[in-house]
Amino acid sequence: MLRDAVRSLAEAKIAPYAAAVDEEARFPQEALDALTANDLHAVHVPEEYGGGGADALATVIVIEEVARVCASSSLIPAVNKLGSLPVILSGSEELKKKYMAPLAKGDGMFSYCLSEPDAGSDAAGMKTKAVRDGDFWVLNGVKRWITNAGVSEYYTVMAVTDPSKRSKGISAFVVEKSDAGVSFGAPEKKLGIKGSPTREVYLDNVRIPADRMIGEEGTGFATAMKTLDHTRITIAAQALGIAQGALDYAKGYVKERKQFGKPIADFQGIQFMLADMAMKIEAARQLTYAAAAKSQRGDSDLTFQGAAAKCFASDVAMEVTTDAVQLLGGYGYTRDYPVERMMRDAKITQIYEGTNQVQRIVMARNLP
Ligand SMILES: Cc1cc2nc3c(=O)[nH]c(=O)nc-3n(C[C@H](O)[C@H](O)[C@H](O)COP(=O)(O)OP(=O)(O)OC[C@H]3O[C@@H](n4cnc5c(N)ncnc54)[C@H](O)[C@@H]3O)c2cc1C
Repeated sequence: MLRDAVRSLAEAKIAPYAAAVDEEARFPQEALDALTANDLHAVHVPEEYGGGGADALATVIVIEEVARVCASSSLIPAVNKLGSLPVILSGSEELKKKYMAPLAKGDGMFSYCLSEPDAGSDAAGMKTKAVRDGDFWVLNGVKRWITNAGVSEYYTVMAVTDPSKRSKGISAFVVEKSDAGVSFGAPEKKLGIKGSPTREVYLDNVRIPADRMIGEEGTGFATAMKTLDHTRITIAAQALGIAQGALDYAKGYVKERKQFGKPIADFQGIQFMLADMAMKIEAARQLTYAAAAKSQRGDSDLTFQGAAAKCFASDVAMEVTTDAVQLLGGYGYTRDYPVERMMRDAKITQIYEGTNQVQRIVMARNLP
């Protein structure tokens, strides 16, 4: 029922704008409005904080179905979970009450600020600092590649509070867009997910009350990594949706397109490609849904499974979307058809929330 409901909404209210959002590299406001009106913008927020209380699998299905028509728009529910999960996992009751209610209501989105210009895969090498000053913390630094920066009201920011302790000297904070000293860079000009704003976040003597720290001092990096264990599954869902969208489009196209006097779908060479695409997508789906169940239960092998799902599904998305372009021939290579956008959008799923090389490092360290 959830899938049907999200699919109908996505096809009616999000798909019609997907090409323009990409072409104009603009924020998918129509998608945000439609998702918010239907309480689908942050489904993961627990009921006790005013949210829909969707479990990890339901959240995956929402993201998958939105990504099937518009990958940029799927980053609305996905990044709302990424940004707010540190608070849900490790925040005080007061922080949860304060920030989850407006997120659930649609009054403010949440972003996640871990990466920096010189700290990507080696995120613990960050330079952003937080220095205690009485009942306040003062933050200074630059966060890079922040999805929905400038649009979101709330930001989970990881910053160094004790430089002598490397990852154990990093703490997490909630920063608000309206805090004095917060500003944003120009939107990055990207290959894909052009409708999703990616910007730098500048923190210039941002003074915030001490109770905005998420969890204990020095636990921010652990919270950031624990968050990714759960949210990499949402990136797998995004990849899955992009791949399914490309297969669905190509499946229709090959029945219409005629060469050598018959639909190209009649050629076995085409049928084998479609069979492989569907097989890979199904394998990615099973891995992703199993990982979502592990996320929900908090199973001890979640770290491996989340990394495996993200890595596998994103590699599948890249292969399937590239094959979809191939199936449309020259037409697939143009912006008159959606599959080239899907191919460009698929690429990011191999890069963010840890590149697929990093996923392999994570898997190797946590072999089942
Ligand atoms: C569109 C977009 C949105 C993003 N959104 C967010 C966000 O909302 N919040 C956030 O915090 N970050 C975000 N990121 C950042 C993203 O997570 C990083 O770009 C990613 O982790 C890689 O870091 P890097 O770009 O610095 O690459 P680097 O770490 O410099 O990596 C370069 C290459 O080296 C490889 N490499 C690095 N170390 C190793 C190793 N030990 N072994 C083998 N290979 C290695 C990498 O896999 C990669 O191929 C986003 C990025 C993009 C592009």
